[in-house]
Order: sequence, then structure tokens, then C-alpha cells
Amino acid sequence: MSDLRDLYQEVILDHNRRPRNFGPLPEATRAADGYNPLCGDRLRVAVHLDVDRIADIRFEGSGCAISKASASLMTESVKGRTLAEVDALFQGFHQMVTASPGTPPDAALGKLTVLAGVGEFPMRVKCATLAWHTLKAALHDPNAIATTE
Ligand code: ZN
Repeated sequence: MSDLRDLYQEVILDHNRRPRNFGPLPEATRAADGYNPLCGDRLRVAVHLDVDRIADIRFEGSGCAISKASASLMTESVKGRTLAEVDALFQGFHQMVTASPGTPPDAALGKLTVLAGVGEFPMRVKCATLAWHTLKAALHDPNAIATTE
């Protein structure tokens, strides 16, 4: 059995303490708000979309360490990617955190795999996927408010 402490690896703690791409994005062309009522995490994801590529992305808000670290890692992973690549990453990430415990994560997810352990804590899966649901809402349905419910 893995310990809850294993979930809070150094990379996750670092991204929580010093979130990357955190703050407002004045030149944003898309944005959406996300809310995870189970934990109280609230995020706003803003994107500067250049045709079908994410030229820049920032997030703001407050939440638990997992939601913040996941948002930070997400912004690093999707910056410069096309919408199709982002969809594929989201699918892979979602599969990883909902896979049965012990399933090796897809190496194509890169540093996102530090969140693989979240799958053993169902309450935390919603924290980890909130930023992704919010990004998806911003890209596909800009007027939506994303929720994990
Ligand atoms: Zn949370």
C-alpha cells in the first residue's frame, strides 16, 4: 500500500510552492473558471490561442497542493502545443489517474507522470483533473464554468 506521503513527492511540492505560469494573462483570447466543490479548489485558466496552437497559458486561483501542482504542470506541458496534441495529453492524463493502482504510466506524458499516484486517492483525482477540465472548457466552450461534478 502506498502512503499518502508518497503522493506529495518533491516535484509536486515544488510546483505547489512555486507554481509556473501563475498569474493573469492580459493577452488571453480564451478563459474559463473551474471549481471542484469536493475540495474547494477554484482555478481560472487563461489561454492565448494562436490559430490552433497554445501560444501562452496562465492560471490563477487557490486550491490544495494537488490542484495547484497539477495546474502548474499542465501549463508547462501544453504551452506551444496544438489543440489536437492537448486533447491527446488530456486523454492520456485522465487514463493515468483513473487506471488501476500499479499500472505503469505512459512515458509520453513526461513530467505529468509525477501525478500517477493520485489514482489511489479518488478524492484527489478531481483535484488533479480540475485544471484540465477548465482548460478544455476554455478551448471548446469559452462561456462555460467547468466543474468536476
Ligand atoms: Zn483539491
